[in-house]
Amino acid sequence: MSSLYAHPIPDAIKDTDWRVFHHLAELSAAGSPIWDQLTVLRRHLNADILTISGPDEPLPNAARQVIVPLTYGERYLGQVCLALSPGASSEEMAARLAFFAPVFALALAGEQTPDMTETQEMRLYQATQEERDRLEAVLEATNDAILMIGTDGLLVTATLQFEAFFSIPRYEVLGCNINVLAERIEAQPGLPAGMADMLRVLADNHTESVGGEFEVTEPKRRVLAWYSLPVHSQAGLLLGRMFAFRDATRERELDRMKTEFVTLVSHELRTPLTSVKGFSDLILEGDFESLEDDVREYLRIIALNADRLIALINDILDITRIESDRIELHPTRCPMQDVIEQVAVCLQPLLDEHQHRLVMEIEPQLPASWADHSRMVQVVSNLLSNAIKYTLQPGVITVQASYIEAASDLPSGAPHDVILPCVLIGVQDTGLGISEEDQGYLFQRFYRAKDVEVRMVGGTGLGLMIVKSFVEMHGGKVWLKSALGEGSTFWFTVPVVEGKNPPRDKDAGV
Ligand code: ADP
Repeated sequence: MSSLYAHPIPDAIKDTDWRVFHHLAELSAAGSPIWDQLTVLRRHLNADILTISGPDEPLPNAARQVIVPLTYGERYLGQVCLALSPGASSEEMAARLAFFAPVFALALAGEQTPDMTETQEMRLYQATQEERDRLEAVLEATNDAILMIGTDGLLVTATLQFEAFFSIPRYEVLGCNINVLAERIEAQPGLPAGMADMLRVLADNHTESVGGEFEVTEPKRRVLAWYSLPVHSQAGLLLGRMFAFRDATRERELDRMKTEFVTLVSHELRTPLTSVKGFSDLILEGDFESLEDDVREYLRIIALNADRLIALINDILDITRIESDRIELHPTRCPMQDVIEQVAVCLQPLLDEHQHRLVMEIEPQLPASWADHSRMVQVVSNLLSNAIKYTLQPGVITVQASYIEAASDLPSGAPHDVILPCVLIGVQDTGLGISEEDQGYLFQRFYRAKDVEVRMVGGTGLGLMIVKSFVEMHGGKVWLKSALGEGSTFWFTVPVVEGKNPPRDKDAGV
């Protein structure tokens, strides 16, 4: 007897073998006895003897046969044995038998341990069902409306809040294509025009996370904050895209009330302060010979602090306007050199007080920008006054301005998306410098470096946020280069807009 134990993987599986394999798998799934399946295979392989024997059972007695082991996980279930007819290739038959062996192993494993398999399956099914119920209950209980669109574009989840926010019954759209949902949204009164397109566009986007806010007017006026992101299984498989909508109406209302309150109080404070400042200046500058020196000093302190308070109130008013999008720019042809010179004149007393030397490096024939002059004065003034304040010993402060046409001419550390051509302004000092950790937060409101020496200098942490907002409103960028103890340079750009900006004026001189 020549027997061949084989488990080779066939190079190419015949189409008919695939069909038979599927047929056997179906029989097995339908619970047909394993002998029915053997009969099908015997006919297909044109074999007289095809048997299955248990691990300890004797092998059939045949002149030539192939034997393929049947295993299920770690368990050895037995073997399938095929007696070869004369002329049949043992290798080919072994390969084909090995191909069919897994269905027999599966069927055999099911037959041998029917109770255990059933119980396990039952438990697994119950656990999955419980998990699913729990998840659904959590989703239904949230205050957010959640939609989930599968990779096939079908809406697989829509929570109860979805009905409440959009007045669209879930049964009308669940299981439908995203286009059906989008059309339903378009037909629904009170929903924003762009919502349906937003859903359509994002359904095909499998990478980006995005969010925003919109207002619906029906069934109730609401501000809805939304975000959307692709969802993956733990194994990293893309499951689809989720959209979540949150009712932000109350938050926005509180924001609006806070802004109104701050604006009102700031205006009310500024009026009496302006009188305090005005009258103390009047007395100081007036011809009051009789004023005692100490009274004069007190008046000077009153005027100085009134100035600081007015500056603070103006900063708060600007921040509230920036946050509520109420800043109106009045751009005109704006030569940045004029802006810098105006600020330098205003801050000369402060420079003198700190005994700093101001160096101006302004490129000749600098083209004018198209910008709001007073906002640019605020930007340069905030940067220059910071350079003065945070340079504690007498030092050198340099203001540079140049025309930049190519990104390669920008200083290192510049953002990659600077709009060109532009005017580049730099304010450099030899002062305290800023640690790398603090640099990441400087442009947030109320942020001040943790340095003790910084805390001894008066400030609110609003100036740089105003600088960033105004620069970006003009299409510019702001960044800095600094190291603790080595001074700082703050850079910002203002684009030179073609068409609105006259060509570089070669004769203008400067
Ligand atoms: P303020 O100066 O009123 O505190 P800013 O928003 O203008 O607010 O600045 C925020 C913080 O950035 C400052 O508190 C300081 O820590 C740091 N900073 C700004 N400019 C400089 C500078 N030129 N040198 C060192 N630190 C600076």
